[in-house]
Formats: sequence, C-alpha cells, structure tokens
Amino acid sequence: MQTKFSPAQLADANIADANGILRACMHCGFCIATCPTYVLTGNELDSPRGRIYQIKDMLENERVPSARTVTHIDRCLSCLSCMTTCPSGVNYMHLVDHGRSYIEEHHARPPLERLLRAALAAVLPRPGLFRLAMIGARAARPFARVLPAPLAAMLSLGPPALPSRSPVDRPRVFAVEGERRMRVALLTGCVQTVLEPAINEATIRLLTRHGCEVVVAKRAGCCGAITHHLGRDGPARSSIRRNVAVWTSEIERGGLDAVVVNASGCGTMIKDYGFILRDEPEWAERAGRIAGLTRDVTEVLAGLGLANPVIETGQRVAYHSACSMQHGQKITAAPKALLGAAGFQVLDVPEGHLCCGSAGTYNMLQPRIAGTLRERKLANIRSVDPELVATGNLGCMVQLGRGLAVPLVHTAELLDWATGGPRPPALNIP
Ligand code: SF4
Ligand code: SF4
Repeated sequence: MQTKFSPAQLADANIADANGILRACMHCGFCIATCPTYVLTGNELDSPRGRIYQIKDMLENERVPSARTVTHIDRCLSCLSCMTTCPSGVNYMHLVDHGRSYIEEHHARPPLERLLRAALAAVLPRPGLFRLAMIGARAARPFARVLPAPLAAMLSLGPPALPSRSPVDRPRVFAVEGERRMRVALLTGCVQTVLEPAINEATIRLLTRHGCEVVVAKRAGCCGAITHHLGRDGPARSSIRRNVAVWTSEIERGGLDAVVVNASGCGTMIKDYGFILRDEPEWAERAGRIAGLTRDVTEVLAGLGLANPVIETGQRVAYHSACSMQHGQKITAAPKALLGAAGFQVLDVPEGHLCCGSAGTYNMLQPRIAGTLRERKLANIRSVDPELVATGNLGCMVQLGRGLAVPLVHTAELLDWATGGPRPPALNIP
C-alpha cells in the first residue's frame, strides 16, 4: 500500500512503525473472510482491510477521528484472526493499538461512554476495587433492564456468587515437588484472582508437580492489557514498567527460567512488552527480556513433558482456542496434545478461528456484536456434543460459561486433575 507521510511525521517512531505496517499491506483482502465483524456485518469498513484504510487516512492527514471511523475501530475485537490469515505479515495488532491510542488522544467521546471506559480502566486492573464492584453489581442486577446496554451487559457477566480470596495469590515462593527443573514467576493476574482463583491454584500445583519452583512476586499485577486496549497509553505503560521491574528484581535475586501466564490475553500482552516500551531507553532492554521469557503454562508443560495421568479421564472435551492463544501467541497444538496425553478425548470446535466475543472489555462496550458472536460460538460448541469444554483464557470462560449445559474449565485445571490434583470445582456443580 502506498503511503504519503511527510519526513516530519516519520520522525515519530509510532508513525514510522505504522508506515512500515501499512506498506506491507497488498490490499489482497484475504483477511476479510476470517474477520468476525465482517462476517457479521458484511461491511468493508468493519473488515481488517477497511480498518487499515481508515487508520491510514486518520494518521496521514492528522485528522480528528470522525464518529464513523471511531465506530468501526471500536468494533474491532483485536482478535488478530486477520494476522493469522494475512500472507504478507501485516502487523495489524501494532497498527490498531496505535490507532486506538490516537483516537483516545484526539476524539471526544460522549459523556456516558467516557465514564464507562474510565470506570473499566480504573476498576478491572485492581482486584480489591473489582471485588467491591462485583458485590455492588450483584445488588444492582434486578435493575439491569432499565440500565443502558453496556451497564446491563456488565452486570450479566458477573458470577452468581464470588469465590473467597485464595491464599495462593499472596506473594510467596511455592516449593517444587521432587527435583527442581525450572524456577518461574507466575502472573496471577487481576480479574482472574477475583472471579476464578481455582485457576491459579491448579496452575501452581501443576507446575510444582512438574519440577517448577513458582514465585508469585510482590507487586506484580495487571499486565496492562485492559488499559492498553482502551487506548490509555499512560496507565498501560505504568503497569508494564511495574511488572518489568518486579520480575527483573526476581531474576537478579534467584534467576527465572520463565514468566508463566495462564490467561492467554495477558500472555499476548506481556510477549509484546519489548515493543511497547521500545521508545523508553531505560526500560526497553529489560522489557524485551521479560517478553522473551514469557510462556503460556501449556508451552512450559509441553517442554517439560506431562506426568502420567493418575486417574482415568476419557471425557469428550471440546477445546475452545482463545484468539489470544491461537492468533496472538500462535499456540495451537500444545494445549490439545497435553489434554490428549492426560487421557481426554479432544474435540475441535467448528469455526474455531472466530472470536467468542469476549475480547477483554469488548463484551461490555459492544454487547450486541459480542452477544451474536457468543451465540454462534455456543452453537458450534454444542454441535460437537462435549461432556466438558476447556480453554486457556478467563475472558472466554466468563463469556461462554453460563451459556453451556456442560462445565467449562481452564486447561490447567484439567491437566492438574489428571496428574494428581483435585477435581476442578466447576465439575462438582450438579
Ligand atoms: S483483529 Fe479481528 S475483528 Fe479486528 S480486524 Fe482483525 S480479524 Fe477483524
Ligand atoms: S490479508 Fe494482509 S495484505 Fe491482504 S488486505 Fe489483509 S492485511 Fe492487507
């Protein structure tokens, strides 16, 4: 694609990167067919190629983004299905990330939208605040019908009851069982610690059983993805710097072989830390080092080899591959191979490349499209008639969980159960 940025514009590192990305696009349109929003609306402006044109126009002409452009960029799920399809290696993720932060800086959103986005950015990354918000949401649920759609969607996503706090989320070192093979830091996350603490508990048991000493580092917290995808560059960078500093100290203290992540949305984000902080000389190298150490829990397990199962499993498990797992991190085979090695019968979900509509805060900000994608995903899952559903991302679990007649669990919980851990709590619910 031809671009016409001036030399002055190209002096800005973000514009120089955007220029390189835009020039890689050949307009071929292969990405259109695999874009969930284009599949639903049939509108070129809701396709990757259409969004690329809109971002190009906005940046080249230094335009104040129009309401129309903002609508189509906001509708993008950042699912990155287009990046898997693109034959030309267009880094759509970096382009849309920059487009979102440009919009945040140059576009005045309506007051209610501004308030909602500010509330999400302030509350979700802070587990204490988020827990309080969830308690408040339960009280407000009877009034959901009279609230604006995004607020009603937010209320509907909360669980019927909040699990109690887990002791594993407090900073400490979990000793290895048997011979030590790795020393790893685990990101326990923000929202996950409140909604599904059982995932971190299962991950720690699984890792220590497989020879990993696990560090939950003091002050490590939200990976920054929530604010980053809302276009809030400043808060996202603060989260990143904090985590980079914490894990770098841990490397200096006892060495780290990996930073392990069990929410694929966070994994995609942390693997990009080096790029995001590339323009901060005092942080860039350390951020790149942390990004290079980051692994999904299934990548670590695949490298170590799964211990022999100690129970007979055999259930038919539909594996839902989160977009951030398959498109963001390109991890496709390992989770299924591990579930197979644990004795489960793994089923592929039709249209597996299409997003379930969760996409971070998307299901709250774009409830109509998110709801349609959710119903489509649920129908595809039901079509393979599973006994269980497994996935590696909390956001997908929240989005799909209550629409299924069968339990939906994290992949790590199933692997933990098969190799000696307790039965996942979701399987105990009649
Ligand atoms: S990230 Fe997903 S929704 Fe956005 S343009 Fe690409 S395929 Fe479409
Ligand atoms: S598939 Fe890649 S090169 Fe083709 S239009 Fe889409 S982004 Fe551009």
